[in-house]
Amino acid sequence: MAIDTLPGKNLSEIIDAIEPGPLFRAAIEEVGESVAPLVEDNKKYRKARIFERLLIPDRVIRFRVEWLDDDNKVRINTGWRVEHCNLLGPYKGGLRFHPSVTEDTLQFLAYEQCFKNALTGLPLGGGKGGSDFDPKDKSDEEVMRFCQAFMRELARHIGPDIDVPAGDIGVGGREIGYLYGQWLKMTRRPGGVLTGKPTEMGGIPGRVEATGFGLVAFAKAMLEQADDSIEGKRVMISGAGNVALYAAVRARQLGATVVSLSDSGGCLIAEKGLSEEQIEEIRDFKENQRGRFKDYDAKGVKFHKDKEPWGLTEAAVALPCATQHEIDDDEAATLADIGVRFVAEGANMPCTHDARAVFRKKGVRFGPGKAANAGGVACSGFEMHQNASHASWTKKDTLEKLEQLMHEIHELTLKHAVEANGVPDYGVGADRAGFTKLADAMVAAGV
Ligand code: NDP
Repeated sequence: MAIDTLPGKNLSEIIDAIEPGPLFRAAIEEVGESVAPLVEDNKKYRKARIFERLLIPDRVIRFRVEWLDDDNKVRINTGWRVEHCNLLGPYKGGLRFHPSVTEDTLQFLAYEQCFKNALTGLPLGGGKGGSDFDPKDKSDEEVMRFCQAFMRELARHIGPDIDVPAGDIGVGGREIGYLYGQWLKMTRRPGGVLTGKPTEMGGIPGRVEATGFGLVAFAKAMLEQADDSIEGKRVMISGAGNVALYAAVRARQLGATVVSLSDSGGCLIAEKGLSEEQIEEIRDFKENQRGRFKDYDAKGVKFHKDKEPWGLTEAAVALPCATQHEIDDDEAATLADIGVRFVAEGANMPCTHDARAVFRKKGVRFGPGKAANAGGVACSGFEMHQNASHASWTKKDTLEKLEQLMHEIHELTLKHAVEANGVPDYGVGADRAGFTKLADAMVAAGV
């Protein structure tokens, strides 16, 4: 059914009409429920069919990526770039390399990214891209050849004022370096076409810390809003990638006890908390040695094969930082039962719709990824600014500005939140704040 046949239909009919995959459907249903009263009350939004128009990406680019492995065999992957909406600025959002990536994954991430970027107040549109390529167990040379092949196709669609990709799962400093190297060879145009670049190549100091540090800044603001403090709290973290590791570093710096981390093979529980030295050692183990937790052995730390941390120890704060849908309603109930009072999403949509309903019902304060993990893209916005103005920011400049911006995102989200069971519903707040900016811009731009 075409969406155009449906003016005036209800939310579920509108959503059915675009036939979204399961992840994209979950994301748009969540937003739909949050913003329905806003749309209902605003004649301009209804007349311009803003909700429907925002569901459909400006374009989805899909391409073949062909490369040679170390045995000189031809390998073939699919690459995508979803350019969802550029009303607020150039399309902006990461690239994900993971075998689970599908067009559905990237459509959901691109849609979420538009709202997140709107919350930063920076001139950033929303997009997302990636491939079903798995960088795990590949040699550096294979990763390099894949990245070069990926960029050969992507280059014609991006540019500093058009579309500016960055990293995400499976795309860290190494991959961004290879992608940017290929861009330079093809175009001879250095600058802000990618963010998360190595600092020697125009990257901004502090980008690597930004999402994790920003997440903890948001969680700290949530605790303070509840007249509490992160200092001395037990903090449970999932994942052991860019977001999780720097969230652990920052939480520890602020006096919290970090009791878990995880990768796709299982989780580490540190009943008495990870020491600063252990977090540093794990960072080196993961970032430089690309190690697996099943092979990590340290004092006071226990490995649980094929397990997630939820329920394996006690905590007051949970920061899911691995991937989407890692906490369902049962796990959310477990978290509430073991005393978790604050959840802030480092990953994108790690909590299912039903998990969020459980948090709401049990009065657990919940910070959605759109707001809580916006520090990464905000810092990418700083990097674009640095590149465009040929300036050099220091790490201190970046982290101070990041802290301030996360505080502003918290305030903005809180302002638009409704109260549920005596606590602010930041999920509704983030959706409504982001939607209002996008909707007003769409009305202003005309049809
Ligand atoms: P990384 O690739 O650096 O790390 C991902 C971590 O999550 C790894 O420890 C990985 O374990 C684990 N993981 C991934 N998939 C699964 C899975 N299916 N089951 C269990 N564990 C899994 O990614 P990032 O840290 O960059 O990203 C993590 C999340 O944060 C994503 O949702 C991303 O979209 C979001 N995000 C990232 C930002 C950034 O700046 N990097 C910005 C905003 C959001 P393993 O190595 O075993 O696969």
